[in-house]
Amino acid sequence: MKKNICLLPGDGIGPEIVSEAVKVLHGIEKKFHHTFMMTEALIGGSAIDATGVPLPEATIAACKASDAVFMGAVGGPKWDTIDPAIRPERGLLGIRATLGLFANLRPATLFPELSGSCLLREDTSAKGLDLIVVRELTGGIYFGKPSGTEVRNGLRTGFNTMIYNEEEIARIAHTAFQTAQKRRKKVCSVDKANVLAVSRVWREVVTEISRQYPDVELSHLYVDNASMQLVRDPSQFDVILTGNLFGDILSDEAAVITGSIGMLPSASLGLPGTPGLFEPIHGSAPDIAGQSKANPIATILSAAMMLRLGLNMDAEADAVEQAVHKTLQEGFRTGDIMSEGMTLLNTVQMGDKIAENL
Ligand code: NAD
Repeated sequence: MKKNICLLPGDGIGPEIVSEAVKVLHGIEKKFHHTFMMTEALIGGSAIDATGVPLPEATIAACKASDAVFMGAVGGPKWDTIDPAIRPERGLLGIRATLGLFANLRPATLFPELSGSCLLREDTSAKGLDLIVVRELTGGIYFGKPSGTEVRNGLRTGFNTMIYNEEEIARIAHTAFQTAQKRRKKVCSVDKANVLAVSRVWREVVTEISRQYPDVELSHLYVDNASMQLVRDPSQFDVILTGNLFGDILSDEAAVITGSIGMLPSASLGLPGTPGLFEPIHGSAPDIAGQSKANPIATILSAAMMLRLGLNMDAEADAVEQAVHKTLQEGFRTGDIMSEGMTLLNTVQMGDKIAENL
């Protein structure tokens, strides 16, 4: 099969980790007789330096012409003080909006080999942690109008609007139920329906959509309870479905308890036929950029998500995930996940090992 992939290495460790994922993708091409046409485009700080904007038109065109978009990370201290309208993160928000990527999928998995890094009590982590947060990405309070700041009755006042219509809720609910069908068939929808009107509509629509998926079990939790349950017993969750604000917070909470930010991938998906965006959940790690210390596994697992969800290549995705597991089982580690008795590798060596284990 021939597929077009647009690479957006970005800033900081971005180019280093994307190179390692590309190495693994070349291994997949060979093993499964595919051709991946990979084109590179600018985003974030490196785009600002070269063109003055974080998301050049040429990048938008390259992304739209691809079957999938694969990103490293954007941002860094060099661009922290520039005009907020053209900050590197604007490039990322811009490409998500341009491609209509309304569904953000963030798995949080505790690899048995790394259970020592988990921040939870041993008896809790022993039950396992393998969940995925399906977060609505283009609506809710981050985009709702009206929003702004003004002086009301002599007081500085800020306001935002949390708003969802039934169409926005239905399409993300479908994504969550279909994701669950490929996993352990459980969806927990998280809202604040005891207080928020928008959550009551959310709960109503999710419940209606669930009738189309009788094989998937649906439950509901209020967001405050969900955040407690995540640290009390995350093994109870399979798919967590939630809106933009709650998903932002819960997906970070779920990720951090695994203890390994350098291990976790993500996917952002739009309507069928539009390219998805695949990237590690971490940032550009300026503190270790250029030192070959970055863990490339989150990025390599993002490539596995791209193969599975963006290019419909399940066997290829399985092969990448198995190669990562094998490498960890063999005792190879980067600095961020290093423990006694293991073998320390740099970014390039870790990429080589995983490619070798394909
Ligand atoms: P960060 O995720 O870049 O780094 C946090 C800590 O984790 C650092 O100590 C870093 O060294 C470590 N780390 C991150 N990824 C690692 C990896 N693969 N291997 C080993 N260690 C790793 O978050 P930050 O420091 O808050 O942000 C740095 C820059 O990244 C900022 O400019 C921020 O805006 C940007 N950022 C971008 C994205 C994105 O592109 N999606 C996401 C988050 C932050």
